Amino acid sequence: MSFIEENLKHVEQKIREACLRCGRKREDVTLIVVSKTKPVSMIQEVISLGPRDFGENKPQELRDKYDVLPKDLRWHMIGNLQRNKVKYVVGRAVMIHSVGSFALAAEIEKECAKHSLVMPCLVEVNMAHEASKGGIAPEEAREFMERVSTLKHLQVEGLMTVAPYVSDPEDNRDCFRSLRNLAVDIGKENIDNIRMRHLSMGMTGDYEVAIEEGATMIRVGTGILGERDYNI
Ligand SMILES: *Cc1c(COP(=O)(O)O)cnc(C)c1O
Repeated sequence: MSFIEENLKHVEQKIREACLRCGRKREDVTLIVVSKTKPVSMIQEVISLGPRDFGENKPQELRDKYDVLPKDLRWHMIGNLQRNKVKYVVGRAVMIHSVGSFALAAEIEKECAKHSLVMPCLVEVNMAHEASKGGIAPEEAREFMERVSTLKHLQVEGLMTVAPYVSDPEDNRDCFRSLRNLAVDIGKENIDNIRMRHLSMGMTGDYEVAIEEGATMIRVGTGILGERDYNI
């Protein structure tokens, strides 16, 4: 068995156990394999083992991989997205998880209108107010939704967060729980064009806790494809 197959089996087992612990169904959690910096050959191996959802954090890398791989894969844009690069992901990504400013939302609207597409999006929330991270502050979320709801080519489907880096995953439980509570609160407002059906949270170090707290999408890179080398 290759290391990818072994890792994938392990992660799948952990997802199932976490679902069992909290009475959720396995099919209600989507595993997004984060393939950033990793070669197309590795992605092909993953495809042969089952997964179809992949996450990238660089628009050109997403474009290049999309263009050479089978068209039934689902690509998720999960990283910081500059406005002038929105054009690379519209028409390729099935979802943009990292909408963290109105300027970006407006650019997505413009590009999607051009192609008569509607882009499913998640609003990124910076739960811990970390200066190094993108996303809106949780207390700004409601007002932000009101503004974004006017953009008809952008469909908000939920919230996303990149939790702080911690050594004990339990330390992120409050962060995940707060994101879910925020989604519940926003959902109750019944804002036109705003849905709260997805929570994208949890990475290699903390996806089990995230599932217990309601994640519908987890983003796992290192735990499946190994450490990344950013110098290649
Ligand atoms: C890289 C990345 C991940 C995956 O991180 P791992 O710790 O390797 O699982 C998840 N989410 C985002 C936004 C990322 O940039």
